[in-house]
Amino acid sequence: MGRTLDFAAERERMVGQLVRAGYVKNPRVRDAFRAVPRERFVPPVDSEDAYVDVPLPIGAGQTISAPSMIAIMLDEASLEPGERVLEIGTGSGYHAALLAHLVGARKVITIERNPELASWGRSNLAGAGYGEVSVVVGDGSLGYPEGAPYDCIMATAGAPRIPDAWPPQLSPRGRIVAPVGSSRHGQVLIVATRRPDGTLHTREGTSCAFVPLVGAQAWPD
Ligand code: SAM
Repeated sequence: MGRTLDFAAERERMVGQLVRAGYVKNPRVRDAFRAVPRERFVPPVDSEDAYVDVPLPIGAGQTISAPSMIAIMLDEASLEPGERVLEIGTGSGYHAALLAHLVGARKVITIERNPELASWGRSNLAGAGYGEVSVVVGDGSLGYPEGAPYDCIMATAGAPRIPDAWPPQLSPRGRIVAPVGSSRHGQVLIVATRRPDGTLHTREGTSCAFVPLVGAQAWPD
């Protein structure tokens, strides 16, 4: 018989590790990690590893990111309740659930190019109590103008550059948090903030390794 894990205890242990390691600084981000059950967003075969700080396969050659990487991104985004967020790359829905906890589920739109993953992510979100997040199937390299303007566009796949489509979809104080790199598999986390004249102030954060963003304004298929 398999081991029965106490997921709540595992979650607390992981959050403690993320805080002690300095990945989670903002108490609101800590509370989001405490609230969202990651075991509901990983394939059942991997549920024992739900609270190990590693990326896990989610099918179609894609991954759910390591919690520490998500923590860095959420910290960089400095999200306030009620801000509107576009996540690019729904995957499992876990990152979108954390965003929903931070800003409110109705304020989050997440876009995924793979219809099967979008449907799995949507059902994971509903099962975890975040069914009001909008999951859209489409090419996020073009953003999602129907839901703009966004206070934050957060990409969870690596782009060769910030797509031209994104900045015009930002609110006046909007920011972009996205892995950007000249290789399909290695990036730097870019944090870009919109200036009053519409141009972007860009800062480089940590090195990272996301799956590629594939689309009209990103990597070719
Ligand atoms: N945020 C996800 C989670 O919490 O599980 C992990 C996302 S995974 C690292 C990257 C995702 O981006 C994949 O599901 C992939 O299909 C998707 N993707 C790649 N290019 C895309 C595009 N142009 N538009 C939307 N989604 C895209």
